[in-house]
Amino acid sequence: MQESKKDDYYCEQCRAVVTEDADYCSRCGSLFVDQVMCNHHAMTQAEGVCVICGVPCCDKCGEMVNNTFLCRQHAGYEICQGMARVYGLNDSSQAEYIMNILKEQGLHPFLYSRKATPLHMGAVDDAIIHPAGEYFGHTINEIKVMVPFPEALEAEAILKDMEL
Ligand SMILES: [Zn+2]
Ligand SMILES: [Zn+2]
Ligand SMILES: [Zn+2]
Repeated sequence: MQESKKDDYYCEQCRAVVTEDADYCSRCGSLFVDQVMCNHHAMTQAEGVCVICGVPCCDKCGEMVNNTFLCRQHAGYEICQGMARVYGLNDSSQAEYIMNILKEQGLHPFLYSRKATPLHMGAVDDAIIHPAGEYFGHTINEIKVMVPFPEALEAEAILKDMEL
């Protein structure tokens, strides 16, 4: 066994690199410390931390969706490799425009478009991923504006102010 450097820690669940003092993995929401209580149930131990809002949740308030922990409120996010979709559109020049605005605000947006398959495949509960039942019909040819999980809420606030 090679001894790892002091600041070189990996999440056991998803293998993301994490900082030594992290209480949870910002990539998958796994908790690294015991005795963290659910934000909504003070007597119940949290099962994970929502990667979107950073709130610890018990198994009734949140759950693993595609190996990523999300609270009930944010379970509908379309997620892919540490990024969450905050906006979708068909116009590539407007997508670039939105991306530049988010960049100017210090965020790290990423445009994602894929013609064939939706991001979520396999044994996924549609009721969780698609609470509004709106995704599959609209994702074909959609350009998705994605941002890293911790930036999702901020990005949405910026987009809302833009009144797109
Ligand atoms: Zn992880
Ligand atoms: Zn959340
Ligand atoms: Zn709870």
